[in-house]
Amino acid sequence: MSEISTYGFATRAIHAGQAPDPATGAVTVPIYQTSTFAQFAVESDQAYDYGRTGNPTRTALETALAALEDAPYALAFASGLAAESAVLLALSAGDHVVIGDNIYGGTYRLFTKVFARHGLTFDFVDTREPAQVAAAIRPTTKLLWLETPTNPLLNLADLTTLGQLARDHGVLTLVDNTFASPYFQRPLDFGIDLALYSTTKDHAGHSDVISGAIVTANADLYARLKFLQNAVGGVPGPFDAWLVLRGIKTLALRMRAHEANALAVAHFLLDHPAVAQVYYPGLPSHPQHALARQQMRGFGGMVSFTLKAGADAARTVVGRTKLFTFAVSLGGVESLIELPVYMSHSGARGSSHEAPANLIRLSVGVEEQEDLLADLDQALENL
Ligand code: PLP
Repeated sequence: MSEISTYGFATRAIHAGQAPDPATGAVTVPIYQTSTFAQFAVESDQAYDYGRTGNPTRTALETALAALEDAPYALAFASGLAAESAVLLALSAGDHVVIGDNIYGGTYRLFTKVFARHGLTFDFVDTREPAQVAAAIRPTTKLLWLETPTNPLLNLADLTTLGQLARDHGVLTLVDNTFASPYFQRPLDFGIDLALYSTTKDHAGHSDVISGAIVTANADLYARLKFLQNAVGGVPGPFDAWLVLRGIKTLALRMRAHEANALAVAHFLLDHPAVAQVYYPGLPSHPQHALARQQMRGFGGMVSFTLKAGADAARTVVGRTKLFTFAVSLGGVESLIELPVYMSHSGARGSSHEAPANLIRLSVGVEEQEDLLADLDQALENL
């Protein structure tokens, strides 16, 4: 479908890479559940030979992932962390990375407990402050790694300013865009080199698969990462690729619903007497709301908050909710509630990057809004 780039987001999500199967007419991309492909000649130039190197279901997914962001290239991985690992494996011992100090706990763990042992060096800085990022850049800095909005505090990094700063220093840029999703934010439009995702989350959307992705317009980076995708092997299986592809078809619909519910939840919490602070970039009271309006098309489904009563009360609340399931992860149709310090950010526990003990993180699902508000209301009673 060569005219795919002329279509809007929701159309591309349903059609890019997903033309009816020429062999059978199947409207849905088949799951090519095979590890290897018969070769019809010695030294043939067939598109597929071995499932780690490539698989037609994965190709369909990668085509759709790229099209969502009008990008030429995407690579699918077995998890968000497998995608992150591929990027870090493209660097060499002695290379330096500047990375945000409020990031997913597993990313923190990957840097400090794995790649530190392989000679990568890094500095964690507050990426809300371009001056701090500039001050951390050294001659050996190869990569600026941003999360925006961050997990779990929903801080923003200024993509225009930081993208330019990195280019001025010949430093590559990566945005972990998991919290925004490509529906609400397109980092490549700001000259960012790599958009990275845990597609486990919004893309897949149903809490039924672990997967990751990298999207880029940089042909050289794509070639290096495609080599590593095959050479290291952190690829999704055909069924997992298919589940993500199926999720993508409804990404636009779900993101609008997530956002409407999250906005209502954020306002509800803001007005609630038991709540100390609400973190949601869609609130006018968010210190970076103006920046959010500038670089995002919407604000996503993630809301964090603290209670005036503190950490014990936070433990009480997560035990009381009935619709918000007490579970880690995010971006599924069902609402989740978690305590970052013990769960999503346990990888940073005991370090200076530990999440606040009284912080509660919500992944606001697409259930009826009044049911979600009533559930939170009863959970916050008499705190
Ligand atoms: N990046 C962010 C912002 C995340 O929240 C997560 C997981 O929660 C990851 C990366 C890692 O993704 P995965 O769990 O698919 O490996």
